[in-house]
Parts: sequence; C-alpha cells; structure tokens
Amino acid sequence: HAAKQTGEPCRTWTAELDERAGEHARLGAELRAALDAGQFQVVYQPIVRMPEGRVTAVEALVRWQHPQRGMVSPAAFIPVAEQNGLIVELGAWILQTACRQMARWRAELGPTGPDRISVNVSARQLARAGFPATVAATLAATGLPAQCLTIEVTETAVFGGGQALTALHELRALGVRIALDDFGTGHSSLGLLQTVPVDVLKVDKSFVDNITEAGRHTVIARALIQVSEGLGLTAVAEGVETAEQAAALYDLGYRLLQGYYFGKPSADPDFQPRPAAAVPVA
Ligand code: C2E
Ligand code: MG
Ligand code: MG
Ligand code: MG
Repeated sequence: HAAKQTGEPCRTWTAELDERAGEHARLGAELRAALDAGQFQVVYQPIVRMPEGRVTAVEALVRWQHPQRGMVSPAAFIPVAEQNGLIVELGAWILQTACRQMARWRAELGPTGPDRISVNVSARQLARAGFPATVAATLAATGLPAQCLTIEVTETAVFGGGQALTALHELRALGVRIALDDFGTGHSSLGLLQTVPVDVLKVDKSFVDNITEAGRHTVIARALIQVSEGLGLTAVAEGVETAEQAAALYDLGYRLLQGYYFGKPSADPDFQPRPAAAVPVA
C-alpha cells in the first residue's frame, strides 16, 4: 500500500487506532465487572409543564461511578455496551431500577409526584425479539402501570423498521408511550412519523440552544411544534438552560420543557412545582 511507504504518519495513525481499540476493549470488559460490582446508578431529570411549573415526568439517565476514573458519561460507555452486547443486561437493570423507583414515588407522593417516567432504550435492546416481554415482566414485577412508562428511542434505532418497529407496536399495545428522542437530528425525521407509532417528540437541544435569536433553529422549532400538534403528539423541548429559552419556547407553543434551568439529573430530584415567578411566561 502506498500509504505504508509514507512512514511515520501511517504508523502513528495505526498506533492510535490500536490504542483506541484497546481502550474500547478494556472499557467493555470493565462494564461487565461494573454491573456486578454495583457501580451503576440511575439519576432522574424533571420534565416540567408550563406555565404552572409542575414536574409531570422524569427521565431516567444512567451513571457510572468508576472507582478510578470518577463519573463516566453514558455517551462514552453506552456505545461500548451496545457493541459488546452488555446493553441488554444493563438496560434491563436500568429499566427495573427506574420502574421500581417510579412505583415507590407513586406510593409515597401520590398526585404530588410525577405522573410518568421516561427510560432510554438503545437500538440493540429494541431490536431484540424479547424486549416487549421484558418490559411487560418489569411492569408486573414492580407494580408500575404501563401508562406511567415512556420508552425513549432515537430515530436511528427505528429507521430500519423490522423488529424494532414490531417492538414499538407491542409496547404500545401494552399501554406504554413511545418518545422519539433527539428529534430532528437523525436521518429520516418527518418521514418516520408516517410509519412509526409515536406519542412524544423530544425536540433536540441543538434547536433550543439559539432559540432566543431569530434564525434557523427558531424556524425549525416552530415547524416541529406545528407538526406535533397537527399529528396529535406531545412535544418536549430538551436542554433548556435559561429563563429566556423557556419563555421563547413557551411563545412558540411548547408546554413541556426539560433542562438544567428546571433541574439537573439527580438521584433525589425535587418535585416541588417551579414557582410561577421562575417560569417566565411572556
Ligand atoms: P438523552 O436521552 O438525549 O438525554 C439528555 C441528555 O442531555 C442527558 O445527558 C442530560 O443530562 C443532558 N441534559 C439535560 N438537560 C440539559 C441542559 O440543559 N444542558 C445540557 N448541556 N445537557 C442537558 P446524559 O445523562 O449525559 O446522557 C447522554 C445520552 O446518553 C442520553 O441522551 C442518552 O442518549 C444516553 N443515555 C443516558 N442514559 C441512558 C440509559 O439509561 N440507556 C440508554 N440506552 N442510553 C442512555
Ligand atoms: Mg432521552
Ligand atoms: Mg434526548
Ligand atoms: Mg438530546
């Protein structure tokens, strides 16, 4: 190969790849041990209804408290767990933990607690034929009504149709809601809404980031709330960090907002309504 004769750059590149592959394999092996050692945790981020500021739902997000590396981001280890297959077992544990916690909140807090919990499910989990049965068994084991569970999937996970699409129909038949996560960043977006059974559109943070300026993001965010309303879906805006963004989204018609402005993911979230003064309604 010609590239080989160029010497150093090619060797460096190869070494880097090896290092990355090695790192990947190491992380993969550590994930297995971490699950057994109880190093994973589930944290919960509020989803707030405007204008009253009530926490109507929470999203469950996994965390890995690594003894040496500290907190490892799910963005770093979920893809590795997907690749080595551990996501099936880890995902089942996350689902069980989240449903058990939600059932506990229902019992302890009643109507002052959240109405439902959202759980992220990766492509590989969804594509397994047994996934809807796992969900049904988890609901039965934890006593959580199906109406209290939303499964978040990405456009990419359902793009190929097949078993993933079948799974969504089966989940819906159980009474579970389906949310399309990071909506607007995948390949098919609007086309998917014709064929995929979905209840909730989670409009990606990238459209929220510059929402206070007149520009493309705002045009798209406005179009997405219209599509959502027209199709009878619920829209959730993700990644709301400021009062100004919340007000701009409210103006566009968004009523369900999620982001650091309302609350960071936490093991012990605060379900107090966000006071009206803190929820800027234009
Ligand atoms: P996601 O499902 O879109 O989750 C939203 C991510 O945005 C979370 O990051 C959350 O902490 C972060 N976020 C929320 N509000 C704000 C904000 O106002 N500003 C900023 N900068 N970020 C905000 P996190 O927890 O690091 O998760 C990243 C991604 O990893 C998730 O994106 C999801 O795709 C995946 N993930 C997390 N937990 C799980 C899980 O239990 N299972 C699976 N399969 N994937 C998960
Ligand atoms: Mg999500
Ligand atoms: Mg998201
Ligand atoms: Mg996102």
